[in-house]
Amino acid sequence: MADLTRRAFGVLASSGALAGCATLQPQGFTEPLAPAGPFRLAPVHVSEDRVIRVVAGLRPYRASGFVVRAERLGDKTLVHNYGHGGGGITLSWGTSELAVDLGFAGPDRDYAVLGCGAVGLATARLIQLRGGRVTVYAKALPPQTTSNIAGGQWWPTSVFDAAVATPAFLAQYAQAARLAYRRYQLMVGDAYGIGWRRNYFVGQPSLEAAVGSLADVAPEARLLQTGEHPFGTEKVVQIDMMQVEPSIYLPAMMRDLLVAGGKLEVRELRDRAEVAALPEPVVFNCTGLGAGALFGDKELEPVRGQLVVLLPQPEVTYNLLSGPSYMFPRHDGIVLGGTFDHGVWETQPQPDITARILARQKALFARMKT
Ligand SMILES: Cc1cc2nc3c(=O)[nH]c(=O)nc-3n(C[C@H](O)[C@H](O)[C@H](O)COP(=O)(O)OP(=O)(O)OC[C@H]3O[C@@H](n4cnc5c(N)ncnc54)[C@H](O)[C@@H]3O)c2cc1C
Repeated sequence: MADLTRRAFGVLASSGALAGCATLQPQGFTEPLAPAGPFRLAPVHVSEDRVIRVVAGLRPYRASGFVVRAERLGDKTLVHNYGHGGGGITLSWGTSELAVDLGFAGPDRDYAVLGCGAVGLATARLIQLRGGRVTVYAKALPPQTTSNIAGGQWWPTSVFDAAVATPAFLAQYAQAARLAYRRYQLMVGDAYGIGWRRNYFVGQPSLEAAVGSLADVAPEARLLQTGEHPFGTEKVVQIDMMQVEPSIYLPAMMRDLLVAGGKLEVRELRDRAEVAALPEPVVFNCTGLGAGALFGDKELEPVRGQLVVLLPQPEVTYNLLSGPSYMFPRHDGIVLGGTFDHGVWETQPQPDITARILARQKALFARMKT
C-alpha cells in the first residue's frame, strides 16, 4: 500500500509549492522569483474502459439536520445519533461525542449501540474509551453499509437545509464539526486510511462561499489568482482537508472495537418494543436511514448518490470539485461523484447517470491546462 504521508507530499509537489523551492536564484537576489505560470496537476484519465465499478448509496438526510438527543424508553435511556446526510463520515466522531455525553452513565456498565456504520463505530469506541462495555447490534456490517459507499472527503456537505435549520442545530453542528476535526487528526496515517489532501474547488466565487462558518477547520484556504492555477479564468478556491478511505477506515474501526472487548451481533431491530427488550440499560441509536422506520422519523429521507470508480492513478494526489461534481483519488480507485437525488430509494446503479458523471468529468479535465 502506498504511504499516505508520501501521497500528501505529492500534493505539494504537484501544486507547485515544492517546485518553487527548487527555482534557481540569480546571484545577489533574495526575493523568490515570481511563478512562471500556473502549477500543473496530473490529469485523471476519464474513459469508459477505465471504469472498475459503479455504486449507489442513500444519504440519511433531514432538512433540519441530524438528531442528537436523549429520551426515555421504558426504564432505558435512548440516545439518538442519526441523520447525517452527506457528512456522516466527517461528523461521526463529533456527534458521537455529543451523544455519549448525553447517555454515558459510568464505566463498567453495559451499553447497546444500534448500527455499525461510521456513526455507530465512533459511538461504540467513545463508550469503550470511557470504560463502558459495548454490544453493537446491526442489520448489516461493513462493507455493506452506506458508510462504505461514501467518497470520504472530510467536510460536512449536504447535511441540512439552511432555510430550515434552527440556530440551536447550527451551534450543535459547528461543535460536532470541530470535535470531529480534532479527533480525525489523531488517526491520520495508513492504519486508518486517513491523510491530508489539497482540494481545488473550480468555479467557486469566493472563499466565504466555500468555507461558510467553518473557516477554522479549513487550513490553507485561499482564493487562487488567475494565472496561478490550470483552469484559465475560472475562480478556484484551494483548501487542505483530510480524506478518509472507508475501505481501510471501517475495518480498522471494527478491529479496534473487537480488540477492546466489544461484541457484535448481526440483528435487525424491527420496532421500539424490540429495542426496549434489549438487555442493556442505555441504547444509542446510530441506524442512519434505518431510524426512519425504526423510530418513526418522517423527516428522514434518502438522498441518492451514485459513484463511478476508475482504475487508481497514484500520481493524482489532489481532490477536484466543480459544482456538484467531485473527483477523489483513493487507493481503491479514482472516485467520481456528485449526484444528489432527494427521495430516491433505488440503489441499483443507473447507466444514464454513469454516462452523465463521466461526461462532466471529461469536460472538466478537458478545460484543465496540462
Ligand atoms: C455517494 C455518497 C457519497 C458520500 N460522500 C461522503 C463524503 O465524502 N464525506 C462524508 O462525510 N460523508 C459522505 N457521505 C455520507 C455518509 O456516507 C453518511 O452520512 C454516513 O455513512 C452515515 O453513517 P451512519 O453510520 O449513520 O449510517 P450507515 O453507514 O448507513 O450505518 C447504519 C447502520 O445501522 C444499521 N441499521 C439500520 N437499520 C437498522 C435496524 N432496524 N436494526 C439494526 N441495524 C440497523 C445498518 O445495517 C448499518 O449497520 C456520502 C454518502 C453517499 C451515499
